[in-house]
Amino acid sequence: MDEKQLRCLVALQDIDIMIQETEGEQKLGFKTEGINKLKATREELTEKIEKPLFRRYELLRQHYKRAVVPVQDNTCLGCFVKLPTSLTTRGKENIEVYTCENCGRILYWLD
Ligand SMILES: [Zn+2]
Repeated sequence: MDEKQLRCLVALQDIDIMIQETEGEQKLGFKTEGINKLKATREELTEKIEKPLFRRYELLRQHYKRAVVPVQDNTCLGCFVKLPTSLTTRGKENIEVYTCENCGRILYWLD
């Protein structure tokens, strides 16, 4: 798996969370500028992400605020379940997309 893909996905998630928060503020009547810029950046990012990965992300986002979560000490920081060592060893190489067997979130490893 291309490491860049994962970086784009993490960036996309940050933007999605910001958009969500900004839209929430709009509902409260705050004037929020910059949401169009956020949406434009989102467009750019989605173009860089492979379609199947993006679709998986969108599905996960319907269930979770964070669809892509880091792994720390071999633990999924989405559901806090310890991951099998075989998975964490392979995952660190960033060759493919790995998902948590417990919660299904997309995982990434922090250096
Ligand atoms: Zn998990």
